[in-house]
Amino acid sequence: MGMKRIITAIMSLCLLLLADLPTARADDPGPAAAATDLPRGVAPLLGDVSTGFDPPDQPWLAGHRGVDIVGDPGGPIKAALAGQVSFAGMVAGRPVISLRHGDLMTTYEPVVATVSVGDEVGAGQVIGTLETGHTSCPEKTCLHWGLRRSETYLNPLDLLSPAKIRLIAGADMEAVRRHAIDLELRASAERASAAGLVNPATGVVTSEFGMRLHPISGTWRFHDGLDIGAACGTPIVTAATGTVTEVGYSGGHGNRLVIDHGTIAGVALKTSYSHAQGFSVAVGDTITAGQTVGLIGSTGDSTGCHLHFQVWSDGDLVDPAPLLP
Ligand SMILES: [Zn+2]
Ligand SMILES: [Zn+2]
Repeated sequence: MGMKRIITAIMSLCLLLLADLPTARADDPGPAAAATDLPRGVAPLLGDVSTGFDPPDQPWLAGHRGVDIVGDPGGPIKAALAGQVSFAGMVAGRPVISLRHGDLMTTYEPVVATVSVGDEVGAGQVIGTLETGHTSCPEKTCLHWGLRRSETYLNPLDLLSPAKIRLIAGADMEAVRRHAIDLELRASAERASAAGLVNPATGVVTSEFGMRLHPISGTWRFHDGLDIGAACGTPIVTAATGTVTEVGYSGGHGNRLVIDHGTIAGVALKTSYSHAQGFSVAVGDTITAGQTVGLIGSTGDSTGCHLHFQVWSDGDLVDPAPLLP
């Protein structure tokens, strides 16, 4: 490279730097920089993202300054990062929690706080319970989760992406986020694997746990259990010894049974069995591992005879498959 070309290159670089100056602000690193220097957090709730991040071009314009994640009314909401509660109260008739994490702020609404202003919280700690009524999610119950650095709104889902993968140019960010959530779930399942469960039904796995691309709608959905397909009337057995905490018809789950197994191999385990024809047990009954408790059916949101089997490990939904023989 000749001297003239080098000088031209240096001059172009200076021009580029100068051109950048008017828009670059110390507290606004821009979307590209913002995504690379965020800490790794945990999902406050595992569920479908019903409305994505769509910040307005100008602060005064309408937009969606966070993401909406579908959950259950009254369900627990966790802190995405370790931090301090800076606000817990009503804003425009809706309960809101704000957490401060150094120069970052996360917000959760509509969430009724179980923490108080000034409390220190750990990542993954439950901070409140989800309410219905978020405006951009009228049909369902959604958590609106926001992330901000100073006045700049960032995509909170970027907290779930592994930092190394974020740096790869042109990476499919949605795939990266799904992968991050999968890794989180797998780690949680590993902690529960020592429990050793019994197969809840004899059949074939028709749908696995995790993020799945819907074959018809083309949208990504979170499947929060393992589907075992078998003829209606096939026995359902309990995966481990425990006590019945819920049994009865439960919306989309149809006839559902929930069993609390207490602490097994150091983790608090709970299992549920959905879409059954019926169950032969009642709340409070003690059930032993492998005991027949009901029959496979197709009640609730179901298109065929199958068991929707769920496992919670220390309160987190985990993939049942690696826990089964
Ligand atoms: Zn929202
Ligand atoms: Zn299912």
